[in-house]
Formats: sequence, C-alpha cells, structure tokens
Amino acid sequence: MSANERLLNSLRKTAQIFKKAREEARDYLLEPEAKTVCKEYGIPVTNFKVAKNVDEATEYAEEIGFPVVLKIVSPDVIHKFDVGGVVLNLNTPKAVEEAYRKILENVKNHKSNANIVGILIQEMAPQSTEVIVGATKDRQFGPALMFGLGGVFVEVLKDVTFRIAPISRNEAQEMITEVKAYPILKGYRGQPAVDINAIVEILLSTSRLVMDYPEIKELDMNPIIVYEKGAKTVDARIILE
Ligand code: ADP
Ligand code: MG
Repeated sequence: MSANERLLNSLRKTAQIFKKAREEARDYLLEPEAKTVCKEYGIPVTNFKVAKNVDEATEYAEEIGFPVVLKIVSPDVIHKFDVGGVVLNLNTPKAVEEAYRKILENVKNHKSNANIVGILIQEMAPQSTEVIVGATKDRQFGPALMFGLGGVFVEVLKDVTFRIAPISRNEAQEMITEVKAYPILKGYRGQPAVDINAIVEILLSTSRLVMDYPEIKELDMNPIIVYEKGAKTVDARIILE
C-alpha cells in the first residue's frame, strides 16, 4: 500500500466513526471510537478490543497480554469509573471473567435498561506522570487546546494552559513549559524527566484533529500517562455538536 492509500484509508476510517455516531443520533464517541480516531491521528493509545461475551473477554485478554483493564462501553455511561464500570489490573482469565460480570451488574444497577455495546479489554498502562490534553470549542475563536498535569493539578489548582488551534510546534512547547507544574515533567528529587517531546507530538496531532473535524465540541484525553520514553492515552472522550 502506498503512503497515499494509507492516508486515504485512515481518513475514511475516522470519517466513518463520526458518521456512525451521527446516524445513531449520539452526541459523543464511545471510548474505543475516540481512541481509534486518536490512533489514526498518530496519538499513542493503549491496545484494546471490544468483547461481546465472557469467552471473547478472556480470549482478548490473552491476546493483549496481562495485566489488563476492563471497561463498560455504553452510550448510557459517560463517566465509567463512577458507576463501577472500570476494573483495573486484572492478572488472570478468572479475574477477567469476574470483572466482566461485575461490570455488567454495576451498570445494570446504575441504569437497568442501559444499552451495552460490549466490554472494552485493554492493556494496563504502568503508572507514571499523568497529563491531560483537551480541546473545547469557543464560539468566537474556534477550537482551543488545553494542557495540564492530571489529578489535583487540573481539578484543584486549575493549573492549565490554553492556545487557539491550529498551534505550531513552538506553541505546543510553550504550553508545556508554562504550567506551574512543569518542573515535575523535567524531573525532580531523583524522579526522572518524562518524554516532553511525546507530549508536543500529541498536542500537534490533537490540533490537526480538531481542525479537521469542526463537529468536535469537546475532546479530552484524561489521563495520558507519560514515561521517560513515550506516552499512552488510557482514556479518551469526544463530544460532538
Ligand atoms: P472515566 O470514564 O471514569 O474517566 P477512565 O477510563 O478514565 O474512566 O478510568 C478511570 C481511571 O482508571 C483513569 O483515570 C486511570 O487512572 C485508570 N485507568 C483507566 N484505564 C487504564 C489503563 N488502561 N491503564 C492504567 N490505568 C488506567
Ligand atoms: Mg477518564
């Protein structure tokens, strides 16, 4: 396949996901859809597969490799963790089976008639520094990109920074250096520095994505785990106009 054909295939795949959501009158993309879109734009995401039954769940877990994470995939559940729809760090097929049943039970307790697409099986990303990349659409200026460190930095300290898309490589670098928590990324007290260039690339890819799809009202990759080398998006959400 030529580079051109690959690009066309990738564009088609992404467009198809947006089209499907519109046809189903959904105003947001499910995690596996959002991650597929991110991946097509070169953003690193955890490996994943959607299982429709327990047998598929254990099969996919073996394929992806333990430990794995299981998550609900349902248009009726937007905040998965809050309803018991996420189970982390599963190390055996038996644990996968139990988590599979437990998640379905939790989601049914939350909403008895929830529409369940399946259960997402994904690799468990090792712990490291967590960052957030997001985008929101401003009525006047169009999409604005957001960057910050995860957890308390964004939720309590509101230590985040914004730029109007599209952004240049320079602007992406500025976004990272200008948050107060930047020294944490650079390494401190023996903690190693994280791969800042990986974050720059993610910001640039996100900029391209929101420019290509004006129907994206909100995008959030929360969290992205960043390592000494590379990064991995473990959760992605895209809300449509
Ligand atoms: P929610 O829809 O509630 O935001 P998430 O997919 O973000 O659900 O999962 C909740 C939390 O679980 C994340 O913030 C992250 O700390 C952890 N987590 C989720 N997926 C993974 C993964 N693949 N590897 C490691 N940790 C994960
Ligand atoms: Mg999340």
